[in-house]
Amino acid sequence: MRLSQFHLRTSKETPADAEIVSHRLMLKAGMIRKLAAGIYTWSPLGLRVLRKVERVVREEMQAAGAIEVLMPSVQPRELWEETGRWQKFGGQLLKLKDRKEAEYCYGPTHEEVITDFARQELSSYKQLPVNFFQIQTKFRDEIRPRFGVMRAREFLMKDAYSFHLADEDLQREYRNMYDTYARIFTRLGLRFRAVFADTGAIGGSASHEFHVLADSGEDAIAFSTGSDYAANVELAEALAPGPRPAAGETLRKVDTPTQKTCEDVAALLGIPLSRTVKTIAVIGVDETGAPQFTLALVRGDHAVNEIKLAKLPGLADYRLANETEIREHLGAEPGFLGPVNPRRAVRVIADRSVAALADFVVGANENGYHLAGVNWGRDLPEPALVADIRNVVEGDPSPDGRGTLAIARGIEVGHVFQLGRKYAEAMGLTVLDANGRAATPTMGCYGIGVSRIVAAAIEQNHDDAGIVWPEAMAPWQAVVCVINPKGDAAVNEAAESLYRELLAAGVETALDDRGLRPGAMFADIELIGIPHRIVVSERGLAAGTFEYRHRRASDAEQLDRAALFARLR
Ligand code: ATP
Ligand code: MG
Ligand code: MG
Ligand code: MG
Repeated sequence: MRLSQFHLRTSKETPADAEIVSHRLMLKAGMIRKLAAGIYTWSPLGLRVLRKVERVVREEMQAAGAIEVLMPSVQPRELWEETGRWQKFGGQLLKLKDRKEAEYCYGPTHEEVITDFARQELSSYKQLPVNFFQIQTKFRDEIRPRFGVMRAREFLMKDAYSFHLADEDLQREYRNMYDTYARIFTRLGLRFRAVFADTGAIGGSASHEFHVLADSGEDAIAFSTGSDYAANVELAEALAPGPRPAAGETLRKVDTPTQKTCEDVAALLGIPLSRTVKTIAVIGVDETGAPQFTLALVRGDHAVNEIKLAKLPGLADYRLANETEIREHLGAEPGFLGPVNPRRAVRVIADRSVAALADFVVGANENGYHLAGVNWGRDLPEPALVADIRNVVEGDPSPDGRGTLAIARGIEVGHVFQLGRKYAEAMGLTVLDANGRAATPTMGCYGIGVSRIVAAAIEQNHDDAGIVWPEAMAPWQAVVCVINPKGDAAVNEAAESLYRELLAAGVETALDDRGLRPGAMFADIELIGIPHRIVVSERGLAAGTFEYRHRRASDAEQLDRAALFARLR
């Protein structure tokens, strides 16, 4: 690519509203331009990087046996009614109406669509197992879109969905995807950890997140220095409401209080308040045994931004994303909810039954409060390990007894779930088994934030001069910089032929023939993070050398042609 014919548009200004380094550098390098809150255009430069990520993800998914499909981004309401998520998904769901007033949403995820596809496509166990994936634009109406493409509203995701007859086969594929994710993030040159995770609005049983470690990450990760143990601390705190009730134990009714502080509610549930636990939902029962809904909003260092009701076992299905939704759903008066200070009292909704929550009741025994009505523990990945890391600090022993815990911040770039039969059951997906009987398949689902990875990689790989791309993500591997291209014809010619030779040798190369002054040209090349820089100048030509510098090296070297090619291979 000749940069004189490529739309490269860098800027020296540091954008004032960009809070983290990847957002600043992506804007300065001209990789993205904002259209509206959380909605971005990818420039030619940005797109080259995005496509690199996409390619690695696609190749590894295919190598792992997954098959590519492409599903629509606009999805009909009826499909989402089948699983109940038209209501439950909450405010992140962008709802649309067509000219006939028919309702749709812009897909934030595709479990419904793939299950609908599967019920049309799959009829026999002989077609299983199968794993379909796509790389598709998603829309989530995030309450607080920020950090550029890191937490966007419109973003690119790779999502995959697998179908199996037997639970063990789902576990095999889950492991296969877990290993595939590790390969993808390794190939992309990222430092990452896989951690125990929450199943969120997607639901299901076992789940792991893949986090790119970076100080700007929104999640806290606790991991052992002596073993593979690692967990998302937010999950761990929230999944620890107390000892599980004995089988058959009768739980007594909760005395629903009308006025509590967040701290009281948290203490009742045994959930420590922290910046990561922002919201607690409590389900109680009234005198008649009808479920009651109690909500405490906890404000950490962040403003109350996302209400995660999915943080208690069994409530994974029930996730409302904003205050308006909750108000609507509960029929509560406007204004009863609002940002609260953990030290201030919060209002509790009393005397309102919430039919949608009838399955989930909090009871209490001598040991404290519990969730009953749900199959306790069913949804928890190794609850004992998870429960033990509440309030951990650096240096605490790891729950598995091997090593001590370190705490790091992470950016969630991937998430694997064992969904189980929840979607297949809700949508009536069955296949004939070996005995000719209808059987409901079990499902897995596997997401990767393709566009988020671009930003996450920059968080990990940058210096004062700009981005330092890992090889696999760089827009070009090498750049040939021509000093004064309008001047000496010999310099021009040497640069051209080096450029062509590098391309022929399979090195993805750009030719910087824009005619910028060396200082400005080098600043651009460093900003956009090209790994290998070769300068062709009159002086070098005279000496029979090229000036070579690796983006991570502090100094340039003078190399002859053979040494240069050896370096680039
Ligand atoms: P988060 O906790 O960051 O909100 P999530 O758990 O809601 O993410 P998933 O439903 O697990 O996201 O989606 C799969 C992947 O999509 C995530 O692991 C993440 O990498 C990416 N992703 C999710 N939301 C966004 C977003 N708003 N912008 C960019 N990427 C996102
Ligand atoms: Mg989210
Ligand atoms: Mg998450
Ligand atoms: Mg997730």
